[in-house]
Amino acid sequence: MADKRDYYEVLGVERTASGDEIKSAYRKLALQYHPDRNPDNAEAEDKFKEAAEAYEVLSDAGKRTQYDHFGHAGVNGQGFGDHFHNAEDVYSRFQDVFGDFFGFSGVGGRKRPRSGADLRYNLSISFRDAARGTEVDLTIPKKEVCSECSGSGSAPGHFPETCAHCRGQGQVTQTQGFFRIAAPCPVCRGQGTLITHPCAKCRGYGIAQVNKNLKVRIPAGVDNGSRLRLRQEGEPGENGGPHGDLYVVIYVDEDDVFTRRGQDLIVGAEISIVQAILGDKITVPTLDEPVTLEIAKGIQSGKILRMKGLGLPHLGSTQRGDLLVEVTVRIPTSVTKKQEELLRQFEKLEEKRPLKKVKDFFKKAMGD
Ligand SMILES: [Zn+2]
Ligand SMILES: [Zn+2]
Repeated sequence: MADKRDYYEVLGVERTASGDEIKSAYRKLALQYHPDRNPDNAEAEDKFKEAAEAYEVLSDAGKRTQYDHFGHAGVNGQGFGDHFHNAEDVYSRFQDVFGDFFGFSGVGGRKRPRSGADLRYNLSISFRDAARGTEVDLTIPKKEVCSECSGSGSAPGHFPETCAHCRGQGQVTQTQGFFRIAAPCPVCRGQGTLITHPCAKCRGYGIAQVNKNLKVRIPAGVDNGSRLRLRQEGEPGENGGPHGDLYVVIYVDEDDVFTRRGQDLIVGAEISIVQAILGDKITVPTLDEPVTLEIAKGIQSGKILRMKGLGLPHLGSTQRGDLLVEVTVRIPTSVTKKQEELLRQFEKLEEKRPLKKVKDFFKKAMGD
């Protein structure tokens, strides 16, 4: 190479070009003159090597300064120059340029912190426990960082060695036609290191299957399908990434007495026709002690009485929903002789009412 061209001229950039400008100019040339695109074209091959050489110098701050001051003499004789024999050489030297150009720079993914997987645990609890809140002991089968080797995978006193196959890169590249394909190193499986003396407990994986015991407080008022998030109780992250989270999904059993609607509780109370007519005090169950409820004279069947604050607690609040008592008047299906006598006397004293127009018949007939 007698008459070496100026490196800036080779790449077609100003002497003041930034590193990025140099990189992108070189990429363009490398693609243009790549031997795969120019078979049996000696001129293209020379241009390809020339560009690589120029890029090697100008992409390195130290060499670029040398070159700026002393020209080719400044960088020749230091092992730079015409030593790119083929495209393979060029690619392995400038992986960063071609890697991100083809978008596979992340293939190896070596040593990149990744957060661990989230876990889900389905927990069934009784209606009363959901209402009052409770504490449960859970045993979560999960992966955890090995306690013996702290996740290194190596037996005590030993350390992972750099993988010779990929020289610690964690990935290997193959040429397929014009394109370069990067794949995780098959020897170290993308880790860049090899365990020579595996930890006895985790057999070198650095993680072990464990049964983690957790005490979980279930807040009062949780509903069916409520999710509790336990931060960092999921599976361990990779390469120093954080643990995932554990989601405890609550399934609340049905109750024999109460029906739930939001934070309100619904309960049915049957009263006799005499209680309905004359009024009375009845006893109503609550989540705690039973309470007395006043039934007004003349109450109608189907009436709903609201007892404030006797429902379920709102999550994270001191407020509570209400207890709704649905009153049903029981009509006796059979009566004794004595009862019948009294009822007939009662009937004689009742004032007769005229027939009246029926409203909403169809609505009622449809059972709505
Ligand atoms: Zn271990
Ligand atoms: Zn490797």
